[in-house]
Amino acid sequence: MREEECIFCKIKNKEIPSKIIFEDDSYLAFLDIFPISKGHTIIITKNHYSNIEDINENELTEVFKIVRKISILIHEKLKIDGYNILQNNFPAAGQVIRHFHVHIIPRSINDDKFKMKIPRNQATEDELNKILNSLKS
Ligand SMILES: [Zn+2]
Repeated sequence: MREEECIFCKIKNKEIPSKIIFEDDSYLAFLDIFPISKGHTIIITKNHYSNIEDINENELTEVFKIVRKISILIHEKLKIDGYNILQNNFPAAGQVIRHFHVHIIPRSINDDKFKMKIPRNQATEDELNKILNSLKS
């Protein structure tokens, strides 16, 4: 995706209006216009990186410092019970906009906004060893 077609670059350049919570020279936090829950926030780097593999370590560290700050702000000001921090990479993982971003999704006890109860099966020793060998070779 070219930068000039990227919706987050357009938001960063103020070509598309957004409800900005925080902004500095390198990062921007704004309210998601299709929120999963009240206060659903997106944090982006102003530099266009496709995903976590493209971003440099310094900016990755800095963006997560901002994610923490905004999380605390949302937690305190919106009086929520908790929140999920979500960062999707590649379409298979649900990444829709190919510009590195982090979601903060406010939660309340027993809400039905974002299910984390995904069925899981216990792996066998053999399966775990095969994966471990693939990762270490
Ligand atoms: Zn972009």
